[in-house]
Amino acid sequence: MKVLITGITGFAGSHLAEYILNAHKDVEVSGIVRWRSRLENVRHFLGRVRLHEADLKDMVSIKAVLAAVRPDRIFHLAAQSFVPASWRLPAETFAINAIGQINLFESCRALRLNPRIHVAGSSEEYGMVYPDEIPMKETNPLRPLSPYAVSKVAQDLLAFQYHRSYGLRVVRTRGFNHTGPRRGEVFVTSCFAKQIAEIELGMREAVINVGNLDAKRDFTDVRDVVRAYWLALEKGKPGEVYNIGSGKAHSIKEILDILLSMSRVRMEVRVDPERMRPSDVPILLADSSKFHKLTGWEPRIPLRKTLEDLLNYWRGYLAAEEKAAAAARTPKPVPTAEAGGRTEKTGRAEKRREKKKPVRTK
Ligand code: NDP
Repeated sequence: MKVLITGITGFAGSHLAEYILNAHKDVEVSGIVRWRSRLENVRHFLGRVRLHEADLKDMVSIKAVLAAVRPDRIFHLAAQSFVPASWRLPAETFAINAIGQINLFESCRALRLNPRIHVAGSSEEYGMVYPDEIPMKETNPLRPLSPYAVSKVAQDLLAFQYHRSYGLRVVRTRGFNHTGPRRGEVFVTSCFAKQIAEIELGMREAVINVGNLDAKRDFTDVRDVVRAYWLALEKGKPGEVYNIGSGKAHSIKEILDILLSMSRVRMEVRVDPERMRPSDVPILLADSSKFHKLTGWEPRIPLRKTLEDLLNYWRGYLAAEEKAAAAARTPKPVPTAEAGGRTEKTGRAEKRREKKKPVRTK
């Protein structure tokens, strides 16, 4: 079986590739990368996947990749995935998320391919929820509260429409927050973990900057989420939508407290007004019973373990960066003549000898 992952260089995409490579060894994994994509999340399995250059905003490139790979399954994870960036870049967010998905679907249609396609929607689509709607079911009204969330609603409904109109075999998920190693540093759990690791290493003053600590989110380990994505295409019904979440809500303050309890040094917590969003969703909590009934899926990794792995990821990442920077700063030893090296002096002497050599004309 051939699988194509859009967003393979990202957080969830890299974990999904790793999961498939380990758990489904007969599957051939391909992924889409942009010409300037950072490869640090995929470097450890680069030899085992095929990477193709394309950009969701450029249908020519997407169509070329689909024609080359002809996948049986597509996991469509690529997106402008950061809510705060969507306030600053609403049109770009739409171009990548909504128009990009149209490019993907239309490429399938043009090439007469009908793979199973997973579309990674988000709990942010629910947006404003009333207390009596919690935990949220798939039937809850969608009242998105950010340009990102509206773009994910567009992706979700386009997937439904392409299934109904053209028979595309699309399964939609609405993932609640996921985290774990490799989570982008702009996202709240990773942002806290990275700051703690930096403070431990003495790279910054012992102050951790935070935004809104009251918001409550349903966190699942990314490694459990990508397993759910696989099951969604294995057992999910095309056209259907499924919530993926742990069913437990934690305030951002609780997340911070768990991470602080693992920290090796003491630090001050400072609220930074710059980190507050224009309208934040107060609580997101999943009712994933529909998906559980279909697949038996439930998260296996406890939140504390996820956060510990995330903090250790940053400790390792930053320590490696520090080591590389220190190595670059250390002056290289000048080779000595005794060791057979060319010193400045012997180098000049050799050049003089070379000049004196007779020039052969024939
Ligand atoms: P990341 O931001 O870590 O990864 C995004 C990926 O999309 C990267 O590989 C990026 O490539 C790629 N990408 C962005 N723009 C384009 C483009 N124009 N063309 C091709 N590729 C592009 O996101 P996550 O892994 O966290 O999220 C994966 C999906 O899951 C997203 O659709 C997100 O909306 C959704 N989701 C995530 C949740 C979470 O908590 N993580 C919750 C719910 C849904 P590059 O390396 O070049 O930047």
